[in-house]
Amino acid sequence: MKVLLWIAVFFFVFWLMRKLRKSGEKTHVPVEQPAESMVSCDYCGVNLPLGESILARGKYYCSSAHLQARESGDVCEESSVSKDRKGE
Ligand SMILES: [Zn+2]
Repeated sequence: MKVLLWIAVFFFVFWLMRKLRKSGEKTHVPVEQPAESMVSCDYCGVNLPLGESILARGKYYCSSAHLQARESGDVCEESSVSKDRKGE
């Protein structure tokens, strides 16, 4: 049972240090940007954060592969798969 006590003490000290460190800093400092706007890939339609997307000619892409695929005029694999299923 002593181990549990030490764990409790450790977490208490950890929490106390965090609290003390926070009080020293400016209050309400956002860790990350709140609610980054989402965009959808023009090729496959997947939603991804704006920061991770690739912007080309006013369109957003999830990867450079999809950008190149769109540039070369390829059809999205998913739409071609659904077409094949309809044919069956
Ligand atoms: Zn994509």
